[in-house]
Amino acid sequence: MHSFRTTRSSALLLAALGWLGAPGTARGALPADYWNDPAGFFERQAQVSLASASDLLAKYPPGIGASVERRGALTILDQLLHDEEAGRRPAVQEFFHARIRQALGQIRTTRVLQGATLWKLYDHAFVLRTSTVTLAFDLTRAGSAGVEGFVVAEEVIRDLVGQCDVLFVSHLHKDHADEEVARLFLAQGKPVIAPIGVWANREFHPKVTHLRRELGSIQTLALPAGRPELKVTVFPGHQRVVENNVVLVTTAEGLRICHTGDQNEPKDHGWIDQIGAEQETDILLVNCWSPDLGRLIRGSKARIVIPGHENELGHVVLHREPYWLTVDRLAALEPVNAVIMTWGEKFHYERVPQAP
Ligand SMILES: [Zn+2]
Repeated sequence: MHSFRTTRSSALLLAALGWLGAPGTARGALPADYWNDPAGFFERQAQVSLASASDLLAKYPPGIGASVERRGALTILDQLLHDEEAGRRPAVQEFFHARIRQALGQIRTTRVLQGATLWKLYDHAFVLRTSTVTLAFDLTRAGSAGVEGFVVAEEVIRDLVGQCDVLFVSHLHKDHADEEVARLFLAQGKPVIAPIGVWANREFHPKVTHLRRELGSIQTLALPAGRPELKVTVFPGHQRVVENNVVLVTTAEGLRICHTGDQNEPKDHGWIDQIGAEQETDILLVNCWSPDLGRLIRGSKARIVIPGHENELGHVVLHREPYWLTVDRLAALEPVNAVIMTWGEKFHYERVPQAP
């Protein structure tokens, strides 16, 4: 006979979120049915679904390709997050905040000796740590979701910024550029790199670093606290007519990381084909919905591709970009080493020695 007990880890999560009594205690005040409570029904269904997704994601962590279990977990998220009201659902807010707190806890305690460890945040935000530096790309508090209760708490974002050395902001849209996050970096004496049009009317604009947006221009970026400098090329990208920095960052270890922001302008193909001209890119952090996806991957000669920007809750449902669609898009390309990640997940990369 089957029993429908929660697993220990999902019971712990549910307990932590106040959805169950502590493991081993009574179920608490959960109703026996929801026949007259549609809101309660869908909230509870979201809680249970997210707890199952959490269990699966913990058991099947990110890697190249994705097991059927991982794809199932990501599809659970797609289903829930494509509900028009998803960002307002307490279960979704709790799930999101728990995952960001979990990532912060790991970032605080992770020392990287080889390669790079990265965390995916919201929506196209990544924090990437090597042995010498911690980079942040398009880090926001998730205000773009348009729901106050979804926004990352002040102390959490402050601690996250405290763990990073530099912030790269691709362009001015709110799902990529968060004024409060930029202020935190600048207040801690850490550089913020953005196109010149970002926060142009703010008093802190002169403190933002505006690198040349130029193919072939490798610029040196000094970092505080005795960190070794970075080499940065800013490709002159665009989201339609909006300037969008596509940055290629080379760390002191020689790791090459490219973040594309919201690159989607076909006229930029000339330089897109040149991103990896000097050398292969280790990690390409690409907007999943870019119409240039295949070209960006080929042009950067990426060893590993990690798509971002899925499930932006501030976008209309048909442009929220589910994980399953990322899988479909990648499947249409030449075989690619892709790692599909969700909020708060961690992945470690090391360069695989090439066969002689
Ligand atoms: Zn965007």
